Amino acid sequence: MDEETHHRADPDDGHLTCVRCGTTVEGDAPPATWLCSMENGSRQYCCEACARTHIRAIEGRLDAD
Ligand SMILES: [Zn+2]
Repeated sequence: MDEETHHRADPDDGHLTCVRCGTTVEGDAPPATWLCSMENGSRQYCCEACARTHIRAIEGRLDAD
């Protein structure tokens, strides 16, 4: 029954989890390089590497336009 718990970002657990790759970081606030967004009323965090990929995807989409 506990197998799914590590897939969830739980801010009360003393660490944050990247929603994209599952990387975790200690603390209750994300590093400045991480992205934070609100999804369905809860915060989701995206690590630096995934943020770069995400931003590139957005820029690529803009360029394509
Ligand atoms: Zn990530």
